[in-house]
Amino acid sequence: MNDFRAAGHAAVDQLADYLGGLADGPVWQAMDPAARERLLGLALPEQGKGLTELVREIGSDVLPYPMGNGHPRFFGWVNAAPAPAGVLATLAAAAMNPSSAGGDHADVHLERTVVRWIAELVGFPHPPGAGLLTSGASMATIVALGTARNRAARLLGVDVREEGLSALPPLIGYVSAETHSCVRKAAELLGLGSRNLRAVRTDAAGHLDPAALREQVRADRAAGLHPFLAVASAGTVNTGAVDDLAAIADVCAEERLWLHVDGAYGAFGVLDPAVAHRYRGLDRADSLALDPHKWLRVPVDCGCVLVRDPVELRGAFSLVPSYLRDENAGGLGWFSEYGIEQTRPFRSLKVWATLAASGREGIARDVAHCTAMARRLGELVNAEPDLELVAPVETSITAFRYAPAGVPAEVLDQVNRALPVAVQERGRAFVTGTVLGGHEALRACLINPAVTEKDLAVLVEEVRASGADLLAPLNA
Ligand SMILES: *Cc1c(COP(=O)(O)O)cnc(C)c1O
Repeated sequence: MNDFRAAGHAAVDQLADYLGGLADGPVWQAMDPAARERLLGLALPEQGKGLTELVREIGSDVLPYPMGNGHPRFFGWVNAAPAPAGVLATLAAAAMNPSSAGGDHADVHLERTVVRWIAELVGFPHPPGAGLLTSGASMATIVALGTARNRAARLLGVDVREEGLSALPPLIGYVSAETHSCVRKAAELLGLGSRNLRAVRTDAAGHLDPAALREQVRADRAAGLHPFLAVASAGTVNTGAVDDLAAIADVCAEERLWLHVDGAYGAFGVLDPAVAHRYRGLDRADSLALDPHKWLRVPVDCGCVLVRDPVELRGAFSLVPSYLRDENAGGLGWFSEYGIEQTRPFRSLKVWATLAASGREGIARDVAHCTAMARRLGELVNAEPDLELVAPVETSITAFRYAPAGVPAEVLDQVNRALPVAVQERGRAFVTGTVLGGHEALRACLINPAVTEKDLAVLVEEVRASGADLLAPLNA
């Protein structure tokens, strides 16, 4: 273990330098081609190397080429800077290396606790067993929709686990144009068929229209179809819009639909008193997908699924082969009975560390800072005549575009489509793009509490300068 101790000290020093120095360098840079080729061409080593040498190679060949998401001016997609407490916990979790499938060891009990903490943070009811950690929200969504599918099948008199989908008529689900692609992926994988997901009308700001949902469900029922699911967003990935969860929950209650809420990006926004009112009704969902590896900054990977009814969840997945029987689990059984994975990583330690390092107050303060900075960015955008906001800032995503007066719409789309990469390549800020209402736009996602007003000013400057560069040859 002397080798481990010496190399471990060196590794921690190296990572402290790395994390401490990130903000001083470019946000992201294309990899030097020689360094890229080196990684791609690495030969399978015949002989082993010492740990100190491995730490050195990580320092020279890997750490210099990050994605950029540790930097305070990274505004792309929804990728967090890791909480240092979570980084440290990752090392201890790997040293213990349990399978958190079940049993009587620390990791299993800690997972029960952090899942309860996550539920408490967002105000979701949590009877014992009503959730688990997953690789991410995509997996959480598969677990949630699988549970919803089984219940719907049972209500139609079919045990879908035994009989399969061919015993069922098509089940109809309701989403919106702003629903994350992981919902469609889950529906496809679960055999529901993406064509049985109906896109319900949204309002101009991208909120699913509850009245349109009700009408569509009634029309489908009248046509002899079987509506079973509605998916609402607690923060869309494009604009951070939060659907009217209470009104959608009313429709779901009337129409006996399973309400799944996608809170992967946005559910933790409820911790900010300035925006908490938008989340009214969140606690009425049948299932909720969250991503601690986003706004909470738990190092990847860590998603979470919470359900209202633990019996329904366990009933959808539980299989206990005789060699896994556990008389010791306090009645809740194994986590592997509540989801898809059998051998499961020790995710809960990094969640515990991240939450314990900040406390509820610290997390809430960080979340509120991010939403305040997103609104501030909205003001900076509004103050520039060549920029325009394309959606209200509801949580911590600011969607906008470069739009100088008098430029034809096609040209604006062309410029805005090219803008993210142009900004990224300059290295001072990182923003990504999307399409909203048929037009190209930029979206800045603010989930790093280290972000300052100065950083926002740099982003605005970079977008305007890149936009002008891209427009000039087109206008000539
Ligand atoms: C990130 C995200 C997902 C998918 O989650 P993964 O953790 O990437 O699997 C789903 N919905 C929303 C709104 C997201 O932001």
